[in-house]
Amino acid sequence: MPGDDEPQYPTVLQGAKQNMAKFDNCVLLTRVGNFYELYFEQAEEYGPLLSLKVGYKQTKLGPVPMAGFPFFQLDRFLKTLVQDLNRYVAICDEFLINVSSKVKSGGLKHDRRVTRVVTPGTLIDEKFLDPYENNFLLSLQPLPPVANDSSGDVRGPEQSIGLAWLDLSTGDFLTQSINRGALPSAITRIAPREIILPADISADIKNEVQEIVGYDHRLLTLHQETSHFVSMSEWSTMLESPVDQDADSAFSTGEKQAGHRLLDYVQHRLQGLELRLQPPRQRELHQILSIDRSSLRGLEILETARDGLGRGSLFHAVKRTVTKSGSRLLRDRLSSPSASLEEINDRLELVSTFLESEDLKDSLIFRLRRTYDVQRIVQKFALNKGDADDILSLASAITETVATRDLLRAVVTLSSNASGHNSESGTSWEHPLERLLQRFDLEGPSHLRDRVASAIDEEGLLQKHRLEEDEAASVAALAHEVVLQSAPEDLQSLPKAVRSSRKSDDQKKDEIELTEPWIMRREASDTLLRLHEELSNLEAEKVALAESLRRDLKAPTLMLKSTPGLGYICHIRSATGFKKDKLESLHAKMVSSSKSTRSFYLTDWTRLGRRIDQAMLNIRDEEKRIFAALRELVIQNLVKLRRNASVMDELDVASAFATLAKEQSWVRPLVNNGTEHRIIGGRHPTVKLGLEEQGRSFVSNNLVLDQNERVWLVTGPNMGGKSTFLRQNALITILAQTGSYVPATYAEIGLVDQIFSRIGAADDLFRDQSTFMVEMLETAAILKQATSRSFVIMDEVGRGTTPEDGTAVGYASLHHLYYTNRCRTLFATHFHALADMTRDWPLLACYCTDVLEDERGSFAFVHRLKKGINRQSHALKVAKLAGLPPTALKVAESVLQHISEKKSASLTQGSAEARPPSMSAAAG
Ligand code: ADP
Repeated sequence: MPGDDEPQYPTVLQGAKQNMAKFDNCVLLTRVGNFYELYFEQAEEYGPLLSLKVGYKQTKLGPVPMAGFPFFQLDRFLKTLVQDLNRYVAICDEFLINVSSKVKSGGLKHDRRVTRVVTPGTLIDEKFLDPYENNFLLSLQPLPPVANDSSGDVRGPEQSIGLAWLDLSTGDFLTQSINRGALPSAITRIAPREIILPADISADIKNEVQEIVGYDHRLLTLHQETSHFVSMSEWSTMLESPVDQDADSAFSTGEKQAGHRLLDYVQHRLQGLELRLQPPRQRELHQILSIDRSSLRGLEILETARDGLGRGSLFHAVKRTVTKSGSRLLRDRLSSPSASLEEINDRLELVSTFLESEDLKDSLIFRLRRTYDVQRIVQKFALNKGDADDILSLASAITETVATRDLLRAVVTLSSNASGHNSESGTSWEHPLERLLQRFDLEGPSHLRDRVASAIDEEGLLQKHRLEEDEAASVAALAHEVVLQSAPEDLQSLPKAVRSSRKSDDQKKDEIELTEPWIMRREASDTLLRLHEELSNLEAEKVALAESLRRDLKAPTLMLKSTPGLGYICHIRSATGFKKDKLESLHAKMVSSSKSTRSFYLTDWTRLGRRIDQAMLNIRDEEKRIFAALRELVIQNLVKLRRNASVMDELDVASAFATLAKEQSWVRPLVNNGTEHRIIGGRHPTVKLGLEEQGRSFVSNNLVLDQNERVWLVTGPNMGGKSTFLRQNALITILAQTGSYVPATYAEIGLVDQIFSRIGAADDLFRDQSTFMVEMLETAAILKQATSRSFVIMDEVGRGTTPEDGTAVGYASLHHLYYTNRCRTLFATHFHALADMTRDWPLLACYCTDVLEDERGSFAFVHRLKKGINRQSHALKVAKLAGLPPTALKVAESVLQHISEKKSASLTQGSAEARPPSMSAAAG
């Protein structure tokens, strides 16, 4: 630390230096006037990345690099730093110190402190937040591994891990306990933007998580909480309502510890901002259909494997929601479908209701479209943010919600009148909308809406925005001139031109502030009304004073002005055209004079001017008080507002599924407690769309897995449609348990607990593992975890090794699935030998696709599955399609000929064909 007499940097730089040390690993943005600035090495490092010019400020300790941007561009630069560059950003804001007594003359005094650290997982209301996705921050708490792990697996699948994750932009807070083996799937499903781990995490878990997040571009943060976890009741101060008494026993130790660290971290990042999150909701494993990581990715549920973008994914293909929060709910449901029969049937019932009544659906959608993203707006208020516009949006969303409630209520009343005989016969039939209706709680919110409507002056607000836009434009215009300016304290070191332009900007701002329109209606409170009357009277006095002065001085151009620099002055646009002697008798004090103007002080005007300014300040204060009361009312209604919004989200999803079902002619699946699958006329939801875009049609296929056939072994040529068939049945199952209609003519599905697939996603090559290793890791996970309620699809297990090894591994997997897991399985393979080896397994059936060839050698794929085994892979046809040179094809043909002549009994023919790697790309 430098002593008193040692040279120091100027105040702002000195402060920045300290903050950079305190918030190491953060990029520091310091607010100085209308700018945010970076200093020292950070200016040099990030200036170019942000396309900012780096300048140098001369100090006694040498030149200091600096770069900056206008304050209103903060969001844009945060996006680049946080979202694109994955950096933590500390924001140091500027506060005006009470100027009344401290500063007699000269500039204003500022205090600066870091108010927030922004990280990818702690975004609140930044404009670059993706409205269609949650922005989750996930905390992991591994518990000590269980001793005697008989599996002998070093990864210890029995080890339990507590998860807690939250979205600060909506207040959603969830927890779950999982086994170590389910970690990759959980991370992929939750898709957090940032993950926090205990600082003392074991290296193997950290590496595993790193591997997953490294690929997904998520950020990993180690955090050691500052306090010890005692009980969940400590969380209550951070929640909208306290955690109830039983919660402590309902949540696992891991979940609680993970939650504790999560909240500690968030508080740290938000520098003590009040939180008011929703109380944690526990996701119990048995309530959701778990989808393993490779299915989530390989089945392209949320994004496509090719580009990681949404287009082409299941989510994209089925999304018909009209609100942002509805679309977030849809995403969540697709990645965690339900495993509760009751829940699924309730959801389906709702879809049917909307499908039956087009009018009802259309009226609902009309209302939904007019609501705003209530979940995120409400959360802003919960975090003590939120402005007049937000509260207006909230009010109109409440109006739409009331209208929706009335609409649904009328429908329910109507239909219960119509089915009046039901109650006579004693059957208590409940309308599907009934339960949702009961969840609406609109009394408090309606009152809030009325208060907002009677308080806020929308017209005034609009004008205010216009002025703000003008102001932003003028700051922007100034920006390239003074981007490298320094703090007000250091003004003297600035070039003169910059100083004056800066001053005029301040001046302008002050003038705007004084003429800024009011945003509250005068009638918003008795006090406000009185204050406005007072102001009107004072303004009338001002007009009268000006008039009498003009008359007495014979100066028609006289104006009474109030300026931030000079105070209350009288101004005459003439150097001579007034009565000089009269002016003297009024004891006027000259301020300035030019060739053509005169300015002077006059006690009467100074007194009156002060009273006018005071009256305006009083109004401003009263407006603030009224707004604070409205904000308080929002906070009091937080729970209700969120609950109503969640009902609207569910309605959005249900009506969206109805729209989809109608448009695509999908059917309602019959989901039951059995363990069978009966899908007639099934289609692939996204491939079908893709083909239709090219004018090709999709061939539907049946799947019947029952007491007679539990495993289907599928063979057929490359490009025959094996993969598509496997995937479409997994997707239909997922859609059904999400609560959607499905692409089939009939579908009966026994409830599935877990879906697994081994289908080889495109990311295999990115990972530092051979294709075969990935295959085996995924296969191992399936064989260890699948239960008799699970649904497994396996595509070409063993293709990553020699035909002999592949056949052996394929057979072993099939054997395990058949005899140990006993789950519904679709197994596609090129190893026809497997069909012979499993010939006497009663519950295994063989199906195949085919190729149709005419005598001229042209051929077509038969995508319809039929019973039997196809021993020909027709690989050379595909190779020809892909454009392999004719000479190479000739050689391949003769090799094939040779092998089949030599055909040994144990090793059957087809397995030698290796798929040309470019096939699917070239032929697709
Ligand atoms: P395989 O796994 O047998 O090599 P795929 O399932 O990858 O074959 O299918 C290859 C292509 O065939 C798909 O991209 C699609 O264009 C087409 N296809 C697959 N199934 C069907 C079907 N049922 N109807 C029409 N075209 C299909």
